[in-house]
Amino acid sequence: MGAYNVVLIPGDGIGPEVTQAACRVIAATGVPVDWEVVEVGTKALEAHGDPLPPEAVERIRECGVALKGPVTTPVGAGFPSVNVALRKRLDLYVNLRPVRSIPGVPGSRDSVDLVIIRENTEGLYVEIEREPRAGVVEAVRRITAGASLRIARFAFMYAAHNGRRSVTAVHKANILKKSDGLFLDCARRVAAEYPTIAYRERIVDAACLDLVLDPHRHDVLLCPNLYGDIISDLAAGLVGGLGLVPAANLGDGVAVFEAVHGSAPDIAGKGVANPTALILAGAMLLAHLGEAEAGRAIEAAVIRVYRKGKVLTPDLGGTSTTEGFVEAVIAALGWA
Ligand code: ATP
Repeated sequence: MGAYNVVLIPGDGIGPEVTQAACRVIAATGVPVDWEVVEVGTKALEAHGDPLPPEAVERIRECGVALKGPVTTPVGAGFPSVNVALRKRLDLYVNLRPVRSIPGVPGSRDSVDLVIIRENTEGLYVEIEREPRAGVVEAVRRITAGASLRIARFAFMYAAHNGRRSVTAVHKANILKKSDGLFLDCARRVAAEYPTIAYRERIVDAACLDLVLDPHRHDVLLCPNLYGDIISDLAAGLVGGLGLVPAANLGDGVAVFEAVHGSAPDIAGKGVANPTALILAGAMLLAHLGEAEAGRAIEAAVIRVYRKGKVLTPDLGGTSTTEGFVEAVIAALGWA
């Protein structure tokens, strides 16, 4: 069998360390992958004067699958988010974030099993801000029926195919009556086509409270862009932190797998980042390629390492390096 062609975007900060970790674990499964390295972010800015060169986007589109490290977004002044621009240019309209507890992870709640489905192309991320007069800034938050319907369709289809019991639309339609009202209308229309899946609605602040008090109250959370972003970090906190949660950005014919976390510049280059999120994103990527068994083997190996509890990176109170964790996961692949 020939090797799979997959784009590898190392990214910034801890990106190169955690993507390298995921590539090593994927290689250890025996699934042959030819990685084509594509730089975006700071390195592309230095080399081409553009943090997201059009050729980079084209390579990902042509290849159809990518594993991506986090890319730093400057706060305030500086270039707009490359992560957001990539999602928009490739029309990666779904951000799928499964949040599951791994037994043995310090600080994790027991048996959390949530799926966050975040609309990935609009909302506040249209990044339109205007200053009608000095001292007043307005941000546009665009919600369209087209984008809301397609993300709702994905959420219900995902729920139906994966044996999930409910979909909860997260909103703030008490305040944002028109925009979140439209998001809810679309969700209701799609919900009516899936009578076997329970449909609920929850105001975003109440949804946050539910998740902290009892994460088992929810199953699939269908979110407009910003609420999905915030709830993802909250949910990551329920299962031990940002180092643990993978994500898939999905469009028609193209998929980009990454971690929920950012580039963590405070620990970059120290060799201590937790690579679990990127390794689990690698498992999702393998399933997407049709190598579901290898994907499950990676998940099982990660679970075995945490269950043993001996190899933990500093974010979880341990002393292991990124490298040490990767070696433990590769060794655990062989325990099956
Ligand atoms: P960005 O601007 O790229 O979003 P950030 O530092 O603002 O970066 P994150 O990188 O998402 O935001 O994470 C915040 C903090 O959480 C990091 O500074 C780091 O201390 C910790 N963190 C995030 N990911 C990891 C990881 N994989 N391993 C260990 N710690 C992590």
